Amino acid sequence: MKTLRRIRALREALEPVVAGRTVGLVPTMGAYHAGHSSLFEAARSECDIVVVSLFVNPAQFEAGDDLASYPRDEKRDRRLAKAAGVDFLFAPSTEEMYPAGYSTWVDVEGLSERLEGRFRPGHFRGVATICLKLFNIVRPTRVYFGQKDAQQTAIVKRLAQDLDLGIEIRVLPTIRDEDGLALSSRNVHLSARERRAAIALPRALEAGHRAWRSGGDPVAAARATLNGLAPDYVEVFGTDERLVLAAAVRIGRTRLIDNVPLDEETP
Ligand code: AMP
Repeated sequence: MKTLRRIRALREALEPVVAGRTVGLVPTMGAYHAGHSSLFEAARSECDIVVVSLFVNPAQFEAGDDLASYPRDEKRDRRLAKAAGVDFLFAPSTEEMYPAGYSTWVDVEGLSERLEGRFRPGHFRGVATICLKLFNIVRPTRVYFGQKDAQQTAIVKRLAQDLDLGIEIRVLPTIRDEDGLALSSRNVHLSARERRAAIALPRALEAGHRAWRSGGDPVAAARATLNGLAPDYVEVFGTDERLVLAAAVRIGRTRLIDNVPLDEETP
């Protein structure tokens, strides 16, 4: 696996090897867990060349967000990416991605203002912008995202469709701990007590899913099962393709999001 930090170096490394081959891109912010690995492995099995980007994108954090405390361990990430068969790890600096004078932003209207967007204004502008930049740098055949970030996935699909990017967007299921908590880089910030409390989030979503299947109100059922956790929102979120029950909660200083697709059986 080659690690590259400059856009030009990545383009030069890709140029001689991509002709006639499929290229898979997995955008990430690092601090890898089994959710990331599942995307690397899917890309590895479906594409000839696998590129993973590792960039904690300041544009998708706002003042007061956890940019400074976002977990970072590039050495460990490099090891895990290499073990999953990644060919190129693109780990640029902030200056490389947003040099002085940077002024162009991508807004996916409507979708970006709901759910997460209401609590993190500007977040999806940062997400859409960095995704489009990465797509332009790598020119992938397919990009891989986790269902865990359902709204992000919907927004990237909209972006790809609206701007005729001609990229296939693959969405892979959420990987969970044994007790059901969705894996997240932010889980490392939870104390033992908070970690125990966090389990109410997937349980509430499951309760919502059960209510939905029996014709009840999924939002009310989920809210009633949050066990004292304070939700930013619990909402049914529909895109063209799927309907999910999504929620965000704050536990101490950590903010967790999760969702369940309502149109699928729970495992
Ligand atoms: P992040 O590094 O948190 O920006 O996530 C990079 C990619 O991994 C995104 O497409 C996420 O949706 C995906 N991802 C994060 N957590 C999980 C998970 N528990 N299961 C599957 N995919 C995930």
